[in-house]
Amino acid sequence: MSAVEAPAKILVTGASGFISAHVCRVALEHGYHVIGTVRSKSKGDYLDNLFREYGARFRYVVVEDIVKPSVFDDHVKGIDAVLHTASPFHFRANDPKELIDPAVHGTTGILKSIFKNGPNVKRVVITSSVAAVIFPTESPYTFTEKDWNTYSPDLIKKEGKNAPQGHKYQASKTLAEHAAWEFMKANEGNIKFDLVTINPSWVLGPTIHQAKEPKALNESIRQFWEHISRPQPKEALAVSGPNFVDVRDVALAHVRALEVSEAGGQRFIASKGPFTYQQFYDILRDARVPNVPEGYPGCDKNTKTNYQDGSKAERVLGLKYTHTKDTVIDTLMSIRTRFPHTNRQPVHSQL
Ligand code: NDP
Repeated sequence: MSAVEAPAKILVTGASGFISAHVCRVALEHGYHVIGTVRSKSKGDYLDNLFREYGARFRYVVVEDIVKPSVFDDHVKGIDAVLHTASPFHFRANDPKELIDPAVHGTTGILKSIFKNGPNVKRVVITSSVAAVIFPTESPYTFTEKDWNTYSPDLIKKEGKNAPQGHKYQASKTLAEHAAWEFMKANEGNIKFDLVTINPSWVLGPTIHQAKEPKALNESIRQFWEHISRPQPKEALAVSGPNFVDVRDVALAHVRALEVSEAGGQRFIASKGPFTYQQFYDILRDARVPNVPEGYPGCDKNTKTNYQDGSKAERVLGLKYTHTKDTVIDTLMSIRTRFPHTNRQPVHSQL
């Protein structure tokens, strides 16, 4: 039996975001009634228009700040399942609290609201991240759902504002996911819903959310765009980036996590595998995509990498990861199609 089935009513937080807009899309395609939370009316109106073919099955509510206590209290009433994706993702926080507070209070806040006011909620799916899984280690190492990143929160305790940006974000994701599992444990026996976390690698793929220009897209796509639209130094191309995954697979993982009964109480890494930007250049060049830097072919031959094992999501949630070539081409084409002026920007072949 499915944990949740269409046409159930689901609440999706941060619906205006890169991943969340795709989560809403897939949920609508599966026949759900979707209520998306957004921070402003204009962001909601954009989504209303994007999902107009689904008529009354999509609507939005405005939740300006997930940090504020009880903001979800009214919005979980009558809801069957919740997908909580809202959380800040960027690398420009001065104080780590800018990331940690919304991540942790947003997560515990929505769980408390469901506990209080959401008697129909059967399942909650939280967008965590591999940021809550991975830690600095010798390569090659294969990370699985058993791993927890305690390194970043410890570093933040020691270094505070001076900690590297990446660890401020990683700490926010670890602390938020940890708080969610602790909440479940503390309320065991009195709670009517179960919890699933999806822990994606670096997410790429076509964008459908609102943005005025490529650099205003979310962090992972902005960085992809920077690497593809401007030649990079050799070192930046050979370095093993994080692993990556397609946003369409991540969105499907969220919806499957609602439906697959045995997913309850589990974490799922969503990851296709490691990458280098040189590999992406090579793929685009082989596919004859114009106006892409050549880089330094072969520079990543000896790149050492870690693996984020996304096979459990294949086995349990039935994911079939998108081919790397499709992700890379579709990511770039989606940006070039949405922002036609970017096609005309000259790209020199090397730095
Ligand atoms: P986006 O920045 O596109 O989406 C984040 C969403 O959260 C936005 O809708 C944003 O609203 C909302 N949000 C942030 N802070 C608040 C707040 N204080 N109150 C209300 N809403 C808030 O990023 P992504 O789509 O990339 O990320 C979505 C989720 O996926 C996050 O939890 C992120 O940690 C996780 N993730 C992302 C990965 C990636 O590579 N992209 C990888 C792994 C996990 P607004 O834009 O209006 O501020």
